Amino acid sequence: MYDIEMENLTVNYDNICALKDVNLKIKDKEFLGIIGPNGGGKSTLLKVLLKLIKPTKGKIKIKNGVKVGYVPQFTTFNRDFPIRVLDVVLMGRLYDRPKIFHKYKKSDIKLAKETMNKLDILKLKDRKISNLSGGQMQKVLIARALMVKPKVLLLDEPTASLDANGKTEIYELLKKLNHEKTIVMVSHDMGVISTYVDSIACLNKTLFYHGDDTKVTGDTLEKVYGCPVELIAHGATPHRVLKHHKEEE
Ligand code: ADP
Repeated sequence: MYDIEMENLTVNYDNICALKDVNLKIKDKEFLGIIGPNGGGKSTLLKVLLKLIKPTKGKIKIKNGVKVGYVPQFTTFNRDFPIRVLDVVLMGRLYDRPKIFHKYKKSDIKLAKETMNKLDILKLKDRKISNLSGGQMQKVLIARALMVKPKVLLLDEPTASLDANGKTEIYELLKKLNHEKTIVMVSHDMGVISTYVDSIACLNKTLFYHGDDTKVTGDTLEKVYGCPVELIAHGATPHRVLKHHKEEE
């Protein structure tokens, strides 16, 4: 039933405590949004999920056979490099051994093209990545992550710096992928994510809330962010936005 289970998970960096006693169970095909202020431990949590760091205390259990794919923030991805879209997608087959010049198997190339077709970016396969829009680049990075055939897809702010249409397109794509995959997404897009996700976890060192729905109350958000949070209605679905975000003041 659960792809991932964390039990009393604590991560310390020397004398900084980044995560404290986090208990989180992520269900098969759940779409989980993780929100929280900067420095709240979101990247640390993703690193634990990717087994890049070990918990100082507590446990993380990833169900047998469950592979985790990772989509980094595309703003941190160097796009000046003269490389084609197809090559970036294929790099997903190299797992943690990134090489630029590598002879790929025919089956890898077939999988890359199928994946790109599914994401509607096959027509971009020979484009240099420097010539892509933000939304197109994000899809390329999602395609790359799908090349390991992951059961769980982790995304670090997949819609940061995209315009409204670009954001909607990425969320719609994730919703489609969610039919087959469990999705864990870090996002600051509070106004939108409650429309798409099944559950929201609020992280600020400890996990303040993790429910089976997206009904996060203003009180919870205020506790997590340490500042007032406004609830607004937008269309048929109530959304939440931050009134004063400490980092932005
Ligand atoms: P977020 O992704 O929510 O911004 P992080 O997981 O990056 O939060 O950081 C959580 C806390 O851990 C912060 O106080 C940060 O300064 C600290 N931290 C993160 N990475 C390291 C590191 N490699 N060494 C020391 N402290 C770190």
